[in-house]
Amino acid sequence: MTAFSGTPHIDGPVRRLVVVLGDQLNHDSMLLEDLEPDRDAVLMMEVRSESMEGPSHRMRTAFFLSAMRHFAIELEQGGHRVRYVALDDPANTHSFSGEVARAIDDLRPDSIAVVRPGDWRVYLEALSWHERDGVPCEIVEDRHFLNTPEQFRAWADGRKSLTMEYFYREQRKRLGVLMDGNSPEGGRWNYDSDNREIFRTTPETPPIEVTIPDAITTEVITLVDRCLPGLPGRMSVDSFIWPVTRDDARTGLRDFIEHRLPLFGKYEDAMWSGKHVLYHSLLSPALNVHLLDPRECVEAALAAYKRGDAPLNSVEGFVRQLIGWREFIRGVYWLEGPGYRDRNWMGQTGSLPDFYWSGETDMTCVRECLTPVLDHAWSHHIPRLMVLSNLALISGVSPRAIGDWFYGMYTDSVDWVTTPNTIGMAMHADGERDETGRTVRLPVVGTKPYAASGKYISRMSNYCRDCVFDVNERAGEHACPFNTFYWDFLIRHRETFRGNNRMAMILKNVDRLDPAVRSAISTRARTLRTEWGIA
Ligand code: SF4
Repeated sequence: MTAFSGTPHIDGPVRRLVVVLGDQLNHDSMLLEDLEPDRDAVLMMEVRSESMEGPSHRMRTAFFLSAMRHFAIELEQGGHRVRYVALDDPANTHSFSGEVARAIDDLRPDSIAVVRPGDWRVYLEALSWHERDGVPCEIVEDRHFLNTPEQFRAWADGRKSLTMEYFYREQRKRLGVLMDGNSPEGGRWNYDSDNREIFRTTPETPPIEVTIPDAITTEVITLVDRCLPGLPGRMSVDSFIWPVTRDDARTGLRDFIEHRLPLFGKYEDAMWSGKHVLYHSLLSPALNVHLLDPRECVEAALAAYKRGDAPLNSVEGFVRQLIGWREFIRGVYWLEGPGYRDRNWMGQTGSLPDFYWSGETDMTCVRECLTPVLDHAWSHHIPRLMVLSNLALISGVSPRAIGDWFYGMYTDSVDWVTTPNTIGMAMHADGERDETGRTVRLPVVGTKPYAASGKYISRMSNYCRDCVFDVNERAGEHACPFNTFYWDFLIRHRETFRGNNRMAMILKNVDRLDPAVRSAISTRARTLRTEWGIA
């Protein structure tokens, strides 16, 4: 495609104005299906507030804008009229509501429609459009997903706790995926225990077919740096790897299914220096802006299994992410309401250390895991969960601080996915307390925190071999900070986890700690917190 030339002037009045947000780029959206090109129009908006409040990684921002521009061009090529408000449009008010109001003034639509946004904040904003401007605004469900929020609510209703595994099994049955009659294919629902292999030496991994930036993406990269200076992360035309069209996204899917899916399951949890992708799919950015449909990804994986090209443990692991975890956390997000992102069950209040933004740290594991985040706004799920958010959890960083970081720094981040994953799964913060501090509700997403010492990282990677810290030490200047903070976390939260059966064994080990060791751990943790600017 040639450079983006904006959008031709649209004369009002229009019958229906359909708002398409940056994470709603599916051509089979229900609203686009009903559009009459001569009478209706589409509104798309590049607004500064979506990148500066947060803030958002340069590459994440460019990915969204480039994908939106390609989508707008494709709509126009399909005969639709698109009012596209560019980031550098002098009239841009840089807020969704401001641009909807301007479009209403100019186009005088009879009605507005939008697919349910992926964010409580924007959803509530969309609800206000009707009240403010008097034009009826319809919010329709997003058919990209396999469940509506109401379906999930019905599933959750009356349950004492929400367990993803049970939800997932029902999805498998309901959708008829990997089922052998009424039983799971292969006899087990879950093959996680087969998916924890490690590498002994540097693995040979297949080359990745990435999208080469075209003129539109190249223009957007320049635009982002010009109009949104100071955004975090690194970006150049050479380092931009993300698909921004449906065709590119489908190429990425094919590449994953053919070359990485066969070993995806086996090495799903492994990490290795300089090998950031390994056998992971790289599909989450395209999925989360809806350039890919989860159904076609599941079908492609199932077809590979049927052909004998991919083993069951890989296919089941991939399918579970799509029909299980992804749908489950979206359900939790809409069920729990807009206040969810501010939950802080464990009362952690620390600031995020600066090295999360710069990557400058002596900890080899953290530096390695931050490299693909700073370079490409992405890392696979184990660096996210067991290194980057684990460190924030055990060192006492506030859930909101690390949640905002994950939200801004990942290309695949949309609020419905990032917030439950960080506030709920990673930070174990989504329980609730009353004003006296008494727990009135235990955490929703997890039954125990994903807290781990350096031992886990040492087992799953080669990072510790070249680190200045000693993974066998718990306290002292050279001790692995993950060890120090892991034990300090357990000491600090001894009472928080009293009564949690899944923590009982670990807490017994805390009780057995020699008082001198306990004191040395706490002292070293305090020193590190001060040095890193957490406390
Ligand atoms: Fe990370 Fe600790 Fe290993 Fe260093 S020793 S790489 S800080 S886990």
